[in-house]
Amino acid sequence: MPPELVNSIGVVLQIIVALAGAFLLAFWVSLVIWAFRDIRSRTRDIFAQLLAALMVLLFGPIGLMIYFLLRPRETLDQVYDRQLEQEALLQDIEEQRACPKCHRPVEEDFRLCPNCRTPLKKPCTNCGRLLHLEWDVCPYCGTEAASPRVHALPAEEEPEPEPERIG
Ligand SMILES: [Zn+2]
Ligand SMILES: [Zn+2]
Repeated sequence: MPPELVNSIGVVLQIIVALAGAFLLAFWVSLVIWAFRDIRSRTRDIFAQLLAALMVLLFGPIGLMIYFLLRPRETLDQVYDRQLEQEALLQDIEEQRACPKCHRPVEEDFRLCPNCRTPLKKPCTNCGRLLHLEWDVCPYCGTEAASPRVHALPAEEEPEPEPERIG
């Protein structure tokens, strides 16, 4: 082979190796970046974040596979969503209302217990919306609400004046 041809082949080979090396390096770095981003969405523990990035940096694709096995199952967003759901569920349970007297289940918009007739809510005298018994102002229209205790007690009746006797 002429030496010039050998030279050209050498140059081409060098370019190929350099390109392959550059590609591998870019691939490796992107694996590390991907793993670092992923772990950051799953934990706030800086030590775990560095460990994951370091593992992928050292072992590349194999490190990434190990990372897949070990990483936290849920992202922080998923954990947050789950907590919100649980809170909502808990609130639903708390809002399951029962009659304070007979403890039968009652609906939120019942005025009184259908079982024992205990008053549960009072309607606003102005807008008619149901108010809690202890509220003394309507939060919807601002009208002063009558205290139920006053209504619950029978008003003392004035003794009727005895008819005057004639004679
Ligand atoms: Zn009841
Ligand atoms: Zn009102």
